[in-house]
Amino acid sequence: MAAQASIAVGSQVWVEDPDEAWIDGEVLKVNGDTITVKCSNEKTVTAKASHVHAKDPEESPCGVDDMTKLAYLHEPGVLQNLKSRYDMNEIYTYTGSILIAVNPFRRLPHLYDIQMMEQYKGADFGELSPHPFAVADVAYRLMLNEGISQSILVSGESGAGKTESTKMIMRYLAYMGGKAATEGRTVEKQVLQSNPVLEAFGNAKTVRNNNSSRFGKFVEIQFDQKGRISGAAVRTYLLERSRVCQISESERNYHCFYMICAGSPEEREKYKLGDPSTFHYLNQSNCYKIDGLDESKEYLETRKAMDIIGISSEEQEAIFRIVAAILHLGNVEFAEGDDVDSSKPKNEKSMFHLRTAAELFMCDEKALEDSLCKRIIVTRDENIVKTLDAEAAKGSRDALAKTVYSRLFDWLVTKINNSIGQDPTSKCLIGVLDIYGFESFKTNSFEQFCINLTNEKLQQHFNQHVFKMEQEEYTKEEIDWSYIEFVDNQDILDLIDKKPGGIIALLDEACMLPRSTHETFAQKLYQTFKNHKRFVKPKLSRSDFTICHYAGDVTYQTELFLDKNKDYVIAEHQALLGASGCSFVSGLFPLLSDDSSKSSKFSSIGSRFKQQLQSLLETLSSTEPHYIRCVKPNSLLKPAIFENQNVLQQLRCGVSFVVVVGISVCFKLPTSVLILFFLRGLWKQLG
Ligand code: ATP
Ligand code: MG
Repeated sequence: MAAQASIAVGSQVWVEDPDEAWIDGEVLKVNGDTITVKCSNEKTVTAKASHVHAKDPEESPCGVDDMTKLAYLHEPGVLQNLKSRYDMNEIYTYTGSILIAVNPFRRLPHLYDIQMMEQYKGADFGELSPHPFAVADVAYRLMLNEGISQSILVSGESGAGKTESTKMIMRYLAYMGGKAATEGRTVEKQVLQSNPVLEAFGNAKTVRNNNSSRFGKFVEIQFDQKGRISGAAVRTYLLERSRVCQISESERNYHCFYMICAGSPEEREKYKLGDPSTFHYLNQSNCYKIDGLDESKEYLETRKAMDIIGISSEEQEAIFRIVAAILHLGNVEFAEGDDVDSSKPKNEKSMFHLRTAAELFMCDEKALEDSLCKRIIVTRDENIVKTLDAEAAKGSRDALAKTVYSRLFDWLVTKINNSIGQDPTSKCLIGVLDIYGFESFKTNSFEQFCINLTNEKLQQHFNQHVFKMEQEEYTKEEIDWSYIEFVDNQDILDLIDKKPGGIIALLDEACMLPRSTHETFAQKLYQTFKNHKRFVKPKLSRSDFTICHYAGDVTYQTELFLDKNKDYVIAEHQALLGASGCSFVSGLFPLLSDDSSKSSKFSSIGSRFKQQLQSLLETLSSTEPHYIRCVKPNSLLKPAIFENQNVLQQLRCGVSFVVVVGISVCFKLPTSVLILFFLRGLWKQLG
């Protein structure tokens, strides 16, 4: 604010730069509203005064550990601070109570060892260098001393370090709340070992991250009155099912598939497995290996973690047998059958894989073939058998693979929860949320839509939390805060999830109407929201739509929205595996009620996700939140590279950043409420 006034000839300033985002320089001339700057790259530029920011005079080469200590709070200042710290391997920085973590892309073991945990134990927040342990410690103390449940919300884009940070926090809490030196399967060990198991089945290599979580996760750790861990619950969100059958170039399927291909010779023999490149579900991309990852070692570790969690060896055997069966299933190809519009396994090789898949699923081979190539249409008078053409049979095969895999994943989550056990007497918990950050790609589909809905919800939660906190504080200090508009994203949330009439409700409606297509769905959206200020129909498109999210505009392609929203198990698949000779397999397909045998009963993934989010938010609302914002310094996933533009982009989408930047631009930012968070610190600094 006042900082702008101090710009004069000779001042050190920041100006915008197309390559570096911001570059420093010295003011040569001030001419009313325009300022001429000689930049450190020798260029001379003229810019509007409002786009020139004073440079921190006392800038130290290693930056400040809390952004509130900067003399000027603005975008270039924040960026420079993060960058100089990153260059010194200081990857953590506070923004008030929010922790910003910049991914080092190199192991820093000393930073997370037991001595470090000991240091942070009970230390005042801010006394030691910024660290996730400090955040975990504050949460733990608050829970213990005040009896209030806590939550730690970790956000950031793919590859930013959310899962790694989450694991550190869990390790710290397990250390604080564990029974030291106890042998055997303790609750805290089980809680920690749930991570490798979930990662084996829910993580995969993507172009953004070699170990990308393809699901969201909320781990709720329960404590007894003495602060010892007494139970835990894991909730997961929206596993990416399509990956089981379809992978893009340079990406991989879920880790467990490669693990089983690297099992012992006996296992490979038993499951008739060969090199990953021989399986269609793995060879659609040319990528099989991940640098520095030994599949057979990972496999043994996963099995060990499963032991600790309490997954029996029979269960483990069944789990990996199913994983192998899915691989064989994917290798069944179809050719045109003898009748019109019918299909059959293409050749001897396909027959072999069909037979093997049936053996491993412990179901009848012919029944498996029929469930892939035929449908039974139930009419009032009779059951009619309809054959599927080769293309439809392939679709049926992939649907079966996805269904089995997602049931398997759900089984693991349930098993983890049952094994660790819930403590019904626990009054205090610490929840750790590791969930995808805001996404905006070239093409955005239903997944991005759900992810961005999550982020809108969390943003609202943040707004409300900060608003409430600040309101109390200002009232107490008799500060007039009324001039700062409370910016609310309720209108975006209404647009998406209002019932009836929101986008999800309209999508469900479209999924239930027999003749809907993505185009009729899009038309309905255009009609319904033509005057909504957060909804835009892109000019040249007939089926895309744009939502003006808090973090920016995102255009969604509706092509697959209807398909992706439909969650149903094909009745033939249900019947097939429900009758498996393996109780583990049939247990994944319990018969629910009479009408579940009717074919293709629709249930909405979007609506279920909305409910899950609702319940998550309810849990979060009863806790005191702490925020960790992870930042990915470069897209190469390499150490020591800090890309300014890239980082800024991420910070702008994140809840913590706007807080800082808002100050210098005189509340012009839409998310000005977040400035409140910061103002308190500033008031205190000013006087
Ligand atoms: P996604 O959304 O794709 O799951 P993520 O935010 O969970 O991404 P992580 O898997 O936590 O990202 O981190 C990606 C990689 O970055 C890790 O596999 C690890 O190699 C590296 N990394 C992240 N944080 C750290 C850290 N603190 N120290 C060392 N390496 C790290
Ligand atoms: Mg992750």
